[in-house]
Amino acid sequence: MKRRNLLAAVGAASVTGLAPAVLRAQAYPAKPISVVVPFAAGGPTDALARVLCQKMSEVMGQQLIVENLGGAGGTIGVNKVAKANNDGYTILFTHMGTLAVNIALYKSLPYDSQKDLEPIGLGGTNPMVLVTKKGLPAKTFPEFMEYVKANQKKVQYGMAGIGSASHLGGLMLNSMMKVEVLEIPYKGTGPALNDLVSGQFDYMVDQAVNVLAQINSGNIKALGVSTLKPLPQLPNVPTIDSAGLKGYEVSIWNGFFGPKGMSKDQIAKLNDALGKTLADPAVSKRLTELAVDLPSKEEATPAALGTQLKASIDKWVPAVKAAGVKPE
Ligand code: ASP
Repeated sequence: MKRRNLLAAVGAASVTGLAPAVLRAQAYPAKPISVVVPFAAGGPTDALARVLCQKMSEVMGQQLIVENLGGAGGTIGVNKVAKANNDGYTILFTHMGTLAVNIALYKSLPYDSQKDLEPIGLGGTNPMVLVTKKGLPAKTFPEFMEYVKANQKKVQYGMAGIGSASHLGGLMLNSMMKVEVLEIPYKGTGPALNDLVSGQFDYMVDQAVNVLAQINSGNIKALGVSTLKPLPQLPNVPTIDSAGLKGYEVSIWNGFFGPKGMSKDQIAKLNDALGKTLADPAVSKRLTELAVDLPSKEEATPAALGTQLKASIDKWVPAVKAAGVKPE
C-alpha cells in the first residue's frame, strides 16, 4: 500500500475505531509463508500439504511455500518450527505421529508438542493401507501373517523413521502379529514407496494418499486397510481387523501448527483460509478421492486441533508402550 493510502487507511480506522493491532492483522501475510513438512517430497504429508497450500495461497493472496525437511521420523522439521521466529511466516504441516506417538518412542524429544506449538487447523484424517511388494508370495491377509511369521529373520518392512505414521502402523501390526522383523527407515514414505515398487523390501503400512495410485496400477498389493470399515476406494481389500487382527485400527490426522506465541489474528487468518480451502469443491473432491476424511466445522477450529492432539497423546502413548517398543 502506498504511504498516502496507508495514512488514509489509518485515519479511516481510527474513525471506525479499528485498533492498530487489527490493522497489523489485516496486513498479514505481507510476504510468502514457509510451510515446513517434516518428511521427504513425494510422500503423503507432502502431497496433502501441497494440495492445501496451493488453494490457501490463492485465498490469502500470498504464497505458502512447502519446505521439505525430512529425517529422524519428522522430529528435525517439527523442531525447526518449534524453535522458529513466531512472526507467522514459518509454520508446520505434520501428522499426529510426530506430535503424539513419538512421545512414547524417544527417550528425549527436542520439543514439547503441546507447549512449543500453536494449533492452527486440522487438514484431514487419512486411513492406512498394508501394502506389499508385488512379488511377495502372500495373496491374502491371513497368508501374509503366515508368511511373515515363518520368515521373521529375513522379512523387511519400510517406514519413515521412529515415531512416523508408517512406524506406528507397522509396529502395531507387528506387535499384534507377535513378530520381530527388520525395519528399513526412510526420510519419508515417498522414497520408501519407490523402493517397495521395485521390490527392495517386503511391506509397509502407509497413508492411503500415498499408495492408492500404485495399488490401482498393480505395482504393489494391498492386503488390508487400517479402518474398521472397508474403504470405498479399495472395495476388494478387507479390514485388517476383520481379516485376522481384531482391534487393529489406525488413522492419521494432519494439521497446521505455528511456533508458540504466534499471534491469534494470524492463526485465525490461516484457519479461515484453510476452512475456505477445504470447502472448495475441487479440493474436497480431490481429497475425498484420496480417502481423506475432511473435518467438520467443529473439528476445524484451532482449539479443536489442540484437543485432538491431547486425545492422541492420551490414546497412543500408552498403546505404543503396551506394544512393548522401547524408546530410543
Ligand atoms: N507417511 C509418512 C509417515 O510414515 C510420512 C511421509 O512421508 O509423509 O509418517
